[in-house]
Amino acid sequence: MPASDNTSAQIMFNQFASDNYAGICPEAMQAMQAANTGFTPSYGDDFWTERACEQLRRIFETDCQVFFVFNGTAANSLALASLCRSYHSVICHDLAHVETDECGAPEFFSNGTKLLHIQGPMGKFDLTEVERTITRRSDIHYPRPKVLSLTQATEVGTVYTPGEINAASELAHSYGLRVHMDGARFANAVASLGVAPADISWRAGVDVLCLGGAKNGMALGEVVVFFDKELAHEFEYRCKQAGQLASKMRFISAPWIGMLEGDTWLKNARHANDCAALLAAELTAIEGVRILYPRQANSVFIEMPGEVAEKLRAAGWRFYSFIGSGGARFMCSWQTSTKDVMQLAEAVKKASSGTI
Ligand SMILES: *Cc1c(COP(=O)(O)O)cnc(C)c1O
Repeated sequence: MPASDNTSAQIMFNQFASDNYAGICPEAMQAMQAANTGFTPSYGDDFWTERACEQLRRIFETDCQVFFVFNGTAANSLALASLCRSYHSVICHDLAHVETDECGAPEFFSNGTKLLHIQGPMGKFDLTEVERTITRRSDIHYPRPKVLSLTQATEVGTVYTPGEINAASELAHSYGLRVHMDGARFANAVASLGVAPADISWRAGVDVLCLGGAKNGMALGEVVVFFDKELAHEFEYRCKQAGQLASKMRFISAPWIGMLEGDTWLKNARHANDCAALLAAELTAIEGVRILYPRQANSVFIEMPGEVAEKLRAAGWRFYSFIGSGGARFMCSWQTSTKDVMQLAEAVKKASSGTI
């Protein structure tokens, strides 16, 4: 566990490290509370889970099959395992969470399916590279490409447009691959693009979506959404075997009702995106600070002198560093306030001008 900060171990105001540092939003909490009445059948055979499924079908405007699991790593790896045999491969981006941050879980749950990671600008695929990876070999010595996995919003806070997803899906499907989407920040992408959720999922060719809840304002819980119901065959056995079937399922499913009824999920995402937009605007004006990627969702990536980053950390600010020295990620959430954003911008200004 990381050491606690120098202000208070309980309440950390000056943090932009991750959207899962945030708490549970009131709507999710209330929905969980509402489900806490009396006895209810276990393992998902309950009223709350049914209502949550209905809400998911409503927002996606289709009769999809949905499964609730504890976290994103489980959602991604079980979804990928269900699409692959052990000798298959999954094409993903170099920076993809499935490749860099899941400790080999996709390979583990699929009994050896290999991830083939490729580069591309702005955290997105270069489709020429994707096609080259698919067609490079067809002999039995090469793990057969079976899935194209996209992250939406991407790991560097950019967003695939409906057209880009369509093009990627068409290419994948033309070679018999399935399309998986890691949607840990899917809500932020929907809010950013102002499109219907279907437009960047099944209508754009996505076969399976892992829809994130935790970063959007829930305590925990992600949904695996199968748009092609055949692919969901026996998926419940995978969930159970992997320890991902909650006995008191209603406490994972009910918060989704609170998030989806009244579109709280999009309100939260829009707020987080707006905070990031404000932060990007403020930081752009600071000399010595360079924005690394176009701000399209709820994060801002910047390059700043190493000593500026050090000063910020010393003052208690929390953020992730990556891509070499000076690179920093500031992540906003439903809980971030514009005051937090302005204070951070002020701190960067002061650190840059040498006044702290
Ligand atoms: C946070 C995140 C996940 C899920 O991570 P867990 O910690 O397993 O819930 C998956 N994909 C991306 C891109 C993420 O940022």
